[in-house]
Amino acid sequence: MKKIQMVDLKGQYEEIKEQVDASMQEIIENTSFINGPEVHQFQKELEEYLEVKHVIPCANGTDALQIAMMGLGLKPGDEVITVDFTFAATVEVIALLNLTPVLVDVESHTYNIDPKEIERAITPKTKAIVPVHLFGQTANMDEIMRIAKENNLFVIEDNAQAIGANYRSSDKSIKKAGTIGDVGTTSFFPSKNLGCYGDGGAIFTNDDALAHTIRGIVNHGMYERYHHDVVGVNSRLDSLQAAVLRAKLPRLDIYNEARKEAAFKYTTAFEKNKNIITPEVVSDCDTHVFHQYTLRIMNGKRDALVKHLQENNVPCGIYYPIPLHAQKAYADAERYDEADFKVTNQLVKEVIALPMHTELDEDQIRYIAKMINNFVGKD
Ligand SMILES: *Cc1c(COP(=O)(O)O)cnc(C)c1O
Repeated sequence: MKKIQMVDLKGQYEEIKEQVDASMQEIIENTSFINGPEVHQFQKELEEYLEVKHVIPCANGTDALQIAMMGLGLKPGDEVITVDFTFAATVEVIALLNLTPVLVDVESHTYNIDPKEIERAITPKTKAIVPVHLFGQTANMDEIMRIAKENNLFVIEDNAQAIGANYRSSDKSIKKAGTIGDVGTTSFFPSKNLGCYGDGGAIFTNDDALAHTIRGIVNHGMYERYHHDVVGVNSRLDSLQAAVLRAKLPRLDIYNEARKEAAFKYTTAFEKNKNIITPEVVSDCDTHVFHQYTLRIMNGKRDALVKHLQENNVPCGIYYPIPLHAQKAYADAERYDEADFKVTNQLVKEVIALPMHTELDEDQIRYIAKMINNFVGKD
């Protein structure tokens, strides 16, 4: 059996090596490192894939979130509602812009933001909602968009983990995750579903005026050369990264399919185990692209299991071990009550993410599942 890895970027590279090597060589030869044609072409190709009017590439997924919030004109003191159970980048940029992060709990079956909790958290100062499509599954965008409309709020989708996922609205239309709210953001960090060989990110929107504003912000607030109309940042996707992404984008659906197949095999293997809760997929329209495959271990053995797997050379991860409201940087005793985070407080003790990537084979999955079932016990 091949050595089991949490992510396997090498196997993917072997398949696209010729194309990646050739375009990288070409970029180096013609020295078009920044704003080269590869970046522009990738932007067009991603717009087509996502069926969105504007893609604005940028330096990473954290910048993408920050720039989206700057583009929407959010001002210090504005409250932005997001989830307690996500990677810190989401809340970090809210705090950096001197906006007020308002963390809310997630749904226990999807681990995504709970629309009821959003409604509870709205105040006259609320300006935006940031749903995170966690682990690859789109949040309940029908409800989120309804709440946003009723309360006149912006929606910024943090789509760093769900690129390529679909969402079927109650009107039956299917849209790509990240293109439903006012603006969506993603990360091309190497281990993401669409990853480059360094840092990268992008912002998507169907709003022409917002796209224009954002294009200036990523480039020092310039709309005309050396005229700085707004305070901007320097956030660019470089040409070498765009070349990698251009090789991978046409394969994204195949990559996501491989992840879903691996997830299905895992789920089948754990189905009869009462002590394990497998990820729930809420719709049949490719709504979950399994950035992570996350189990809940229900009999208190999660930490022991992590140790057991590590000792047996099976990598695993805990995403996320500490709720954001309990992090020193984001704690707010006046605002938060532990009772507001029942689900997150529980999840952080139960979740474990298993190896998930496009190169997992059947033997590896069977081996991992058997080890887990044996260790956790079935009753
Ligand atoms: C990875 C990630 C980000 C940040 O992306 P970077 O490219 O690493 O800056 C933001 N939000 C979520 C949910 C992520 O998983």
